[in-house]
Amino acid sequence: MRFASLGSGSEGNGLVVDADGTCVLLDCGFGLADCVARLARLGLAPAALAGIVVTHEHSDHIGGVGRLARKYDLPVWLTAGTLAMAQDLEGVAIRIIDSHAPFAVDALEIQPFPVPHDAREPVQFVFGDGQRRLGVLTDAGTSTPHIEAMLTGVDALVLECNHDAAMLESGPYPASLKRRVGGRFGHLENGQAAALLGRVKHDRLQCVMAAHVSKKNNTRALAQAALAEVLVCAADEVGVACQTTGFDWIRL
Ligand SMILES: [Zn+2]
Ligand SMILES: [Zn+2]
Repeated sequence: MRFASLGSGSEGNGLVVDADGTCVLLDCGFGLADCVARLARLGLAPAALAGIVVTHEHSDHIGGVGRLARKYDLPVWLTAGTLAMAQDLEGVAIRIIDSHAPFAVDALEIQPFPVPHDAREPVQFVFGDGQRRLGVLTDAGTSTPHIEAMLTGVDALVLECNHDAAMLESGPYPASLKRRVGGRFGHLENGQAAALLGRVKHDRLQCVMAAHVSKKNNTRALAQAALAEVLVCAADEVGVACQTTGFDWIRL
């Protein structure tokens, strides 16, 4: 099993997960040509995807899904709540998922779990191939016991480190947006991400990648330092999914 990021952040997200040649795209917040170019960087043709799995209706996650799905005839898995709020999915083969029910795409086992975020029915996922498991958590305002139960025991974790609390507080956002981002239905800050990691980490966890890092309210170095303290490693050993290049394939 392997995974890679097309890019991560408020301007667009996309993650590919490949189990034995079954490759799905998790979210697509990029325009069609941009997404195809980002896939090509990873050696992937869009038509080779088995489909697109969507976390929620915010444009940095769903903005490019309709065009990509129609052009390459890809099915799209999402919750009924996300579908209700989605635009531009006409003509797309929709597969409704339950936010608690696992489903499979060929060799890939996919376990959704609900998260607190200001969308209609947002979910995040654990992907597995029967041997290894990858947990993904971005766009969550806070952790919950259920999230931590889902992420305990994963071999790799892509974890939101959206903002630094002090930078958000003193940063350029208007007060209402600061409250939204920092609130219970907003995004995880570095300290929350580190605390969550401390509660789910275990001996088999071999890879943690920081994701959805804000350009305005965080730095790569702060996110790395927060997770490195928990992992007891050097800060530069913590990987970061950046907005422009994501990260290259990681094999589990
Ligand atoms: Zn987002
Ligand atoms: Zn969101």
